[in-house]
Amino acid sequence: SVPLGFFGGIGGASKLGVLVKGSNYLEALASTEIVVFDKTGTLTKGNFVVSEVHSEKMSEKELLALAAYAEDYSNHPIAMSIKNAYGKAVDASQIKDIEEIPGHGVRAIINEKEVLAGNAKLMKLNNISYEANASVGTIVYVAINGKYVGYIRIEDEIKSDSAQAIHDLKAAGVKKIMMLTGDSGAVGKKVAQSLHLDECYTELLPADKVEKMELLMKQKNNKGMLAFVGDGINDAPVLARADIGIAMGGLGSDAAIEAADIVIMTDEPSKIATAMKVSKKTLRIVQ
Ligand code: ADP
Ligand code: MG
Repeated sequence: SVPLGFFGGIGGASKLGVLVKGSNYLEALASTEIVVFDKTGTLTKGNFVVSEVHSEKMSEKELLALAAYAEDYSNHPIAMSIKNAYGKAVDASQIKDIEEIPGHGVRAIINEKEVLAGNAKLMKLNNISYEANASVGTIVYVAINGKYVGYIRIEDEIKSDSAQAIHDLKAAGVKKIMMLTGDSGAVGKKVAQSLHLDECYTELLPADKVEKMELLMKQKNNKGMLAFVGDGINDAPVLARADIGIAMGGLGSDAAIEAADIVIMTDEPSKIATAMKVSKKTLRIVQ
């Protein structure tokens, strides 16, 4: 049976905006030694803003329109920012085939032309040579019929709460804080350095994240718990493999919220340390 104190603990946490789906997860939080974060939407705001459009042949407006059409079916934060920057409705009758390639980008047939919009991996996969870009931000390369035509630069911001979150977790006794991301090495390193994270793994495909999580679970010591914090559809299988899966409840995907053991309703990562404090207090009361 569940000691009565845990109901108080779960209720207390929910008043603070943290939904705990079972007393065992509240208990596990108290002995968390490793916290692994997803980047986009978790440590960063996930509302990307287009900061530059570079076109080799057509006008910048035309390139942006083409990318917005190609992103028509995608709900990825990157796709949303491109559609926002375009600012107009898309004429769906011009789009034939459209598909999202997880961790890479999108492919669509627009007015009989094949349009690819995505990262360096997507270009390499299709043997398209492009002008490598070392500037800050996430770069979405665009190609038409197998030829590179330009790029769109998109920038995200670290959540104002993230530095506090990392500080509080360390103060609460967490030994190691890591980040896993599908984003580029340059963007990942910038975020990891500015937040003083212990480890950072970049350019991971959804399957790579799962594999990395399985490895981390094998390598850790038995008593210390490992928590993973994520928000996206792709994060659901990773959430399920961690000792404690924590999802962002506000902007997070339904799949992530469902797969999670704990949901942060306010999307503030600092609430994880807050919940750890509730957990430790509850354990002192019930023991
Ligand atoms: P994260 O780990 O940052 O949440 P994702 O796995 O969702 O990343 O995506 C990894 C990378 O794949 C993105 O940084 C981007 O380069 C590319 N990507 C994914 N979806 C799209 C899309 N709809 N349009 C353009 N690029 C995309
Ligand atoms: Mg994400």
